[in-house]
Amino acid sequence: MASDQPLATEQRERESVGRDAWWTNGWLLIVAGVWKGGDRMDRAEKCAWQVIETLEAAGHQAYLVGGCVRDRLLARQIVDYDITTSARPEEVQSLFAQTVPTGIRHGTISVLVGSLQYEVTTFRTDGEYTDGRRPSEVQFVRSLVEDLARRDLTINAMALGRDGILHDPFGGQRDLEQQRIRAVGDPRRRFEEDALRILRAIRFAAQLRFEIEERTLQAIAEEASSLQAISRERIREEWHKMLLTHPDLAIRLLLQTDTLRYIFFRPPADRTLWQRAADWAGRAPADLALRTFLLYSAIGLDQPRMEKNMQGLKLSSSLKRELHEQISMQSSGSPAAWSDLQFRQLFFEYGHRAVWRRCLIHAVSQDANRLQAWSERVDHHRQQQPLWNLQDLAVTGQDLIRAGIPAGPALGRWLQRLAQLVLRDPAKNEREVLLHQLQRWRAEETGDA
Ligand code: ATP
Ligand code: MG
Repeated sequence: MASDQPLATEQRERESVGRDAWWTNGWLLIVAGVWKGGDRMDRAEKCAWQVIETLEAAGHQAYLVGGCVRDRLLARQIVDYDITTSARPEEVQSLFAQTVPTGIRHGTISVLVGSLQYEVTTFRTDGEYTDGRRPSEVQFVRSLVEDLARRDLTINAMALGRDGILHDPFGGQRDLEQQRIRAVGDPRRRFEEDALRILRAIRFAAQLRFEIEERTLQAIAEEASSLQAISRERIREEWHKMLLTHPDLAIRLLLQTDTLRYIFFRPPADRTLWQRAADWAGRAPADLALRTFLLYSAIGLDQPRMEKNMQGLKLSSSLKRELHEQISMQSSGSPAAWSDLQFRQLFFEYGHRAVWRRCLIHAVSQDANRLQAWSERVDHHRQQQPLWNLQDLAVTGQDLIRAGIPAGPALGRWLQRLAQLVLRDPAKNEREVLLHQLQRWRAEETGDA
């Protein structure tokens, strides 16, 4: 894995500094008018070009590809830079000092440059799909166009070279301009090969607020049942990405193409409930637990059905915990009726985020035009909060032990009691006051008061 001629990252980074201006200028000259924001190159992008340069210096072709090219053209924030190359995985490994064979069977090597990581994938076609999920084998190829042809959507099938030339054999740039989602090649065949692409098409349409081109949309509806072959985990990942973009658009597309039933575990059939769900989730801030709980409420799931849905969708344990917090907080009644003390107690018990979610759920579902007011209200209470956990008490467990409380479960109970006292009266969070109160309680208990 280690190379004979490793890339001396630091040194190359230093060498490249002098070239930034050229890169930047060359970049702007070639792609002026198309490339928005090209005058600013951050470190992640600079290092990506260095990886490409190293591959080229060894006689290979290499390009930025996929999401980073799409997002660069849209002047959106770039999440990660993927690189496609004619070099074979072993060749990639031999050229860089630090690599990880992330998906070596599919031609992907991660190249590490300091704290940055790039996925470098050999040009490939996907071979035969036997199960509608994964190619049974991949074939490495020498042509960029073949590699681009295996990609899902035209807007994701573009590559950019160091010379500033955009390789766009399927009209991705035009589709970006016309705000259109279109499969590469015959959409039915592409969805048959890998049904996850159906969800990716819907997700990108929702994320970018694009239209899905007619043939692609029709193929989605026709191939929707192939989603049954996709693992729950992969479906969940896409579903959550949809929920975090424009969930109202995503839900409408899922309804329109009748794909919802393959995603959402046992969805209710009543479409008006889903219209409401789309509306509520679309209005809430982009928080997964908040939007998920709003959906559950909008479609009227009771607790047992929520639990089944959480299992069915294989939600992560942290998301399940956050949803359970909301279920449990329902017993505290409407936030509109909470007193200051209740806010303090709920903050202490559930934390700020859970209380914020509870209030925003209330705002979206019961008090639609007052999201901002509710956020401010939660913020106001947050600033007043005297105690978030036992560590915020003016006394410690050690203080209590010194005051004669035996270590063990009793100690925890005394601390909790003191915490409740402070929540009722924040001014009492003073060491002397609390220790004095402790002695009074103990005396009362032993009848010495
Ligand atoms: P994101 O912003 O969500 O990361 P992305 O386009 O980078 O978007 P990735 O999942 O990171 O998405 O995939 C990188 C690239 O790999 C895509 O741009 C696309 O070219 C290709 N790709 C990903 N998944 C598929 C798929 N299921 N079928 C065909 N090509 C795919
Ligand atoms: Mg990506």
